[in-house]
Order: sequence, then structure tokens, then C-alpha cells
Amino acid sequence: MTSRDGFQWTPEEGLAQGVPSIGVISPPTNITSGAKPWDVIVVGAGYSGLTATRDLCVAGLRVLLVEARDRIGGRSWSSNIGGYPFEMGGTWVHWGQPHVWREISRYQMRTDMEPSFDFSRGVNHFQLRTNEGTSIMSHEDEDTLLANALQKFVNVDGSLGRKIIPYAHDAFHVPEARQYDSMSAKDRLNVIALSLTPNERAALESFVLLCSCGTLETTSFFEFLHWWALCGYTYQGCMDSLISYKFKGGQSSFAIRFFKEALSTGRLSYVFNSPVGAIKDEGDKVTLTTRDGCQYTSARLVSTIPLNVLNSISFNPPLDPQRMAAANKGHVNQCVKVHAEISNKDMRSWTGISYPFNKLMYAIGDGTTPAGNTHIVCFGGFNNHIQPEEDIQETRKAVENMAPGNMDIKRLVFHNWSKDEFAKGAWFFSPPGLLSTSLDALRRRHGNVVFANSDWAVGWRSFIDGAIEEGTRAAMTVKEELQASPAPRVRL
Ligand code: FAD
Repeated sequence: MTSRDGFQWTPEEGLAQGVPSIGVISPPTNITSGAKPWDVIVVGAGYSGLTATRDLCVAGLRVLLVEARDRIGGRSWSSNIGGYPFEMGGTWVHWGQPHVWREISRYQMRTDMEPSFDFSRGVNHFQLRTNEGTSIMSHEDEDTLLANALQKFVNVDGSLGRKIIPYAHDAFHVPEARQYDSMSAKDRLNVIALSLTPNERAALESFVLLCSCGTLETTSFFEFLHWWALCGYTYQGCMDSLISYKFKGGQSSFAIRFFKEALSTGRLSYVFNSPVGAIKDEGDKVTLTTRDGCQYTSARLVSTIPLNVLNSISFNPPLDPQRMAAANKGHVNQCVKVHAEISNKDMRSWTGISYPFNKLMYAIGDGTTPAGNTHIVCFGGFNNHIQPEEDIQETRKAVENMAPGNMDIKRLVFHNWSKDEFAKGAWFFSPPGLLSTSLDALRRRHGNVVFANSDWAVGWRSFIDGAIEEGTRAAMTVKEELQASPAPRVRL
């Protein structure tokens, strides 16, 4: 099936909107006219919503899943084009991510993973292009360059961040950590500027911007420290956790397992292509109204609507001012992720940074397509933003500028997350001041409405793991309330 989401471009066909995905659900609803009332409505079929839906159905509750798009997966979905899964959003997972790995084990998908990098043959180098010129270096030297620069960046406590964030899943455990949330990445760079070589500075800035996809001024230094702690306080840990292991069959091959398991209980109703407009909590029930006027009612509602679009829903009673202020501020990630299929096989072992002059800044060889072409995945952000479908020549130029002379483009594939009305951005990355003031408010329930999204997870916030963490929490909360366990019988 073809989703409305995503774009692909080839020299022969030009630009086309909509790409195929096994995550498309057709027909879009299974609700029949005699449908029974639901215990819980879950809004959103990303990993938070899929996890909550599955857990609630398995627990014996009747669930209605309402989704605006024509597919599952939200910000994590893959398109299978020419027998190859292009990851349109969330991609990489790691066994150090506890919630996601539990699900991978549960669905017996441990052996469905593959590495992104393959440095076994081909050019086997890292290319750094900056305003100062171009350097070609080995991947070992790439690692040394970035590790040195990152260590200077994070070393606020003489222990590479271990003292300031000793518990990555309780990041404000040390009260002094909060001060770093009022600091931007730019502020921190200013502190260490004199200790960095020009190449370290360019590589460091582009790595930090790869994580936030905002600008250096809008990137919370605390949130970067939090990522660093999650990744075991090392550059190698960052590479392993953030960008190394993916599903051979693509993210949608994982997400569909959650959906099918929920469906197999016989307790799942769903309706896709149904953007929610309003949510009203009347005390004894919650009523949801879709933009096209359909109404559904249940005892509880789990909202997994992301932070950057939360203010597009009308809540009655209104959301508390702190949550609304956070939603109006939003997160800063405007990632531009562009896949390029190129003819040069030797580029499989290439990695590169072109910064700050180029519209895309960081790219790696990520696979070989069935046609024998190299798959390069490129990232850009708000620091030098493009809307890739608006000017495809500019997008091609940005890809070509990553490694001039070596990018003979056969195909481009991408999803414009900035213009996506159900996300308005990519993975969560906090601006300074948001987390220390609003994380608790974002996690709070609102009467019979429980909020779950990776955007306010406490562990791998911003990641698939955080979405599963949040979906699990929401389902447990609702399950405990609706299935109050009978008092234990005392046996004499
Ligand atoms: P979402 O996936 O956003 O789900 C929310 C759902 O709500 C969506 O399906 C949306 O359509 C729906 N919705 C919104 N508004 C409405 C409405 N009005 N009515 C009905 N439904 C609505 N994570 C990793 O772990 N590894 C990675 O490599 C990685 N890379 C990423 C790359 C990109 C480009 C992007 C965009 C994200 C990446 N992430 C990655 C992050 C990861 O994808 C997300 O954190 C995670 O998928 C969020 O899941 P969620 O369910 O919490 O939110």
C-alpha cells in the first residue's frame, strides 16, 4: 500500500509524493455500526500509542485507536522501494535501550538487526569539509577527532558528566544539573572555544547539531549531557546507541507486530485518516471529536499527540498553563533526513561532514540496495534549513556537496517532518529552559486523560525506547484504574 506521507525523486520520474509502506492500514477502520462502547481511546498510532493499545488489549480492555494518518508508526516508519527499506524517521535501536530491546526480544526479532556501517571495503574514509578546506582521514582518526572534542564539551565536572548526571533515567537527580538547562550548546562552546582546534570545532558543532537539529543557540546543553549519559559517557557509546543498528526489514516491520498483537485479542477497534479536533472530559466519561465531526466516548483516553502539535487540539477543561506554555514553545528539532541512492559502490564505507556552508551536514554510507547502488543517509537541521521537496535541485546539490564528484544520484527519498501537520518537527530536542520548568507538567495526567509520548519520557527521551517507556506507563496507569484488582483472599 502507498502512504500519503513521504516523497521520492528519480531522474526518470521526477518528484512524487507518497511512498509504499507495510505500515499502511487498509481498510482504514474496522468499526461496525453495532460497536460496543470502549474502555479506553488511544489517540495516535506511533510507538507510544501502539504500546499502550497493545498492553491494554492484552489486559482485557476494549480499545479504540484513533490516528490522523493512513498508517501506523508515527515518526518511525519505513518505505520499501525496490525491495529496500528506507527509514523515513526513527531508525536505529540498541540493546542498551531497555524498553525497545524487551520488545525486540518479545517479538523474537533479535536476529532481524543489521549494522549501518560497513568499513570492510571501498573508500573507507571520513571526509571533513569546512570553511577552512577539506580533510580526508581514516575512520580511526574521525573517532579520535570527535571523541577529543566531545570530551572537552561535556567535561563540566572533571568526570565527563558522570558526577552531574549519575543516573541517566533520573537526570535531575543532582540538583546542580538544572543549571545546564539554562545554558545553550553555544554558551558551552564559548566556554571551551580556546581549547578546540578548527577541525574539532567544526566536527563538534555538526555532531551537536546532528543530535538537536536546531541551532547551537536553541539546543539545551543539559539535554545534550543527558544523551551523553544515556550513551555511557563515551563517543563510542553515542555511535553504538544512536546510529549503528537497524531493522533489516525497516521500522514498519517492528511496529506492525504491536498492531497485529493488539488486533489478535479481538478487543481492538481502530480508525485511521481521522485527525482529532477536540477532547472533552465530562468527569464520568471522555468524548473525542474528530475534525470531520465523528464522536467517540470512553472511560479513559490516552493522548500520544506530540508536543509540537498538542496546541492544535481543543481540550475541555483546558490544559494547565504550564503544559500549554511548553506546547507553545515546543521542541527545536527540524531535522531534514534525505536518503540518496548513488551508483558509486565504494562509497559504502564513507562518512562525511560538510559544515557549516552546506544545507545537509552529516552523512554516512548506510547500505547497498538490491540494484547494487550505495545508500547514503544525509542529515541537516534548522541551522541551514531546507524544505527538500520545494526545490529538488537545491536538495540534490546539498547531497552532492557532501562528497563532490562522488554522488551520482539515482534516487532521493525523504519525509518533510517540518511541514508534517501531525508532528511539526522530528525527534524531541529541548531548547534551554524547557525541561527544568515543564517536564513534570508534561507528564501529569489531566483528569481522565493520560499523556504518553517519547517527547516527555524520562529515559531515552526522543527515542523509540522513550515512546515504548511512555506507552507502557500510560497503559499501566489506566489498567490499574479500570481493573482494580479484587482484594486478596486470606486463606486460613
Ligand atoms: P509519534 O510517533 O509522533 O506518534 C504520535 C502519533 O499521533 C502519530 O502517529 C501522529 O500521526 C498522531 N497524531 C498527531 N496528531 C494527531 C491528531 N490530531 N489526531 C490523531 N492522531 C494524531 N528514534 C530512535 O530511537 N532512533 C532513531 O534513529 C531515530 N531517528 C529519528 C529520525 C527522524 C527523522 C525522526 C522524525 C525521529 C527519529 N527518532 C529516532 C525518534 C522516534 O522516531 C520518536 O521519538 C518516536 O517514534 C516517537 O513515538 P511517539 O509514539 O511517542 O510519537
